[in-house]
Amino acid sequence: MLEGYNVDRLTIATLASHSSLQIVHGAKKEGFETLLVVTEDRAWFYEQFDHLIDHLVRIGKWRELCSERVVRTLRDHNAILVPHGSFVEYVGLDCVTGIRVPIFGLRSLLVVEADQHAKIELLRRSGIPVPRSFPPGSEIGGPVIVKLPGAKGGRGYFVATSWREVVERLEEAVKRGELDDVGRVIVQEYLVGVTAYVHYFYSPVLDRLEVTGADIRYESDVDGLRRMPARILVELGLEPTFTVVGNVPLVLRESLLPTVYEYGMRFVRVTKELLPPGIIGPFCLEGVIDRDARMRVFEFSGRIVAGTNLYLDGSPYSYLYWDEPMSVGRRIAREIRLALERGVLERVLT
Ligand code: AMP
Repeated sequence: MLEGYNVDRLTIATLASHSSLQIVHGAKKEGFETLLVVTEDRAWFYEQFDHLIDHLVRIGKWRELCSERVVRTLRDHNAILVPHGSFVEYVGLDCVTGIRVPIFGLRSLLVVEADQHAKIELLRRSGIPVPRSFPPGSEIGGPVIVKLPGAKGGRGYFVATSWREVVERLEEAVKRGELDDVGRVIVQEYLVGVTAYVHYFYSPVLDRLEVTGADIRYESDVDGLRRMPARILVELGLEPTFTVVGNVPLVLRESLLPTVYEYGMRFVRVTKELLPPGIIGPFCLEGVIDRDARMRVFEFSGRIVAGTNLYLDGSPYSYLYWDEPMSVGRRIAREIRLALERGVLERVLT
């Protein structure tokens, strides 16, 4: 992929969305050129950041990222693509896996990330505690969360307490045309506790795992409903949704850190074993911590998460490693720079 590249003039590139401003901000701090691929409708907004963005490549639709013109432009700029949360969703899996531009991160993990079943299976194999899953007809002891395939950002999830309720609601979803493959639905133990999204960075260059931050997603309207008296909620029969609206910073109790770190190590290990060369750079483990301070993980992201946007100036954790402002965007650029200096650039690209 690096054939024809001038590695002394690399450009850090991504799609103008999600955490792209953080990524280009960090790239500039580490002395790289930057490029954003942007759709026409949002170009005006990103133009305001021309001090951070050296090249804006305009497209009509996100899928054009993989067009010959855009790929050629990226390669002409010696671009390294940084995937984020909007990547697979906007441009599609085939484009992300096939694009002939080097990616900072583990491509094969993005494929796993797109499949909820494969995702939970990878977590299970890592030995990280996960919520129980209920195969059809099995005994449900308490509340379950039902995850429909393709439900984006928690929209379309529902909570139930019996199979009868689950089946009824799924039949309704099929009738409304929102669900065509009932077999892909996940029925999972609803975890009671506080949600925590822990951000990590695995450095193949330093062979080191760093905890870079943590956040809580603020979700509408499961987080908003607590403002409503319970009596009225029952009267209205309101069903909460889990649509992410924003992120709130979280600093974990220090006594939780060894557990959280151990989970991160397990994740690094399982990806090295099953998806060589293993995770590269940022990832996130997303779970619930209960009253006994046990954490169970229901989800992961195998790339930078939007919650890192909270820490543009570094997080309470990143200071422990770097003692200087270090966002995850900048950490990515630093890793590329370290890899370049040590002549091991291929270790951080797939
Ligand atoms: P996800 O799409 O898996 O990130 O889930 C979206 C949201 O649903 C999460 O941020 C949580 O608020 C909630 N959620 C997902 N899985 C569970 C679970 N097993 N127990 C409780 N809440 C969950």
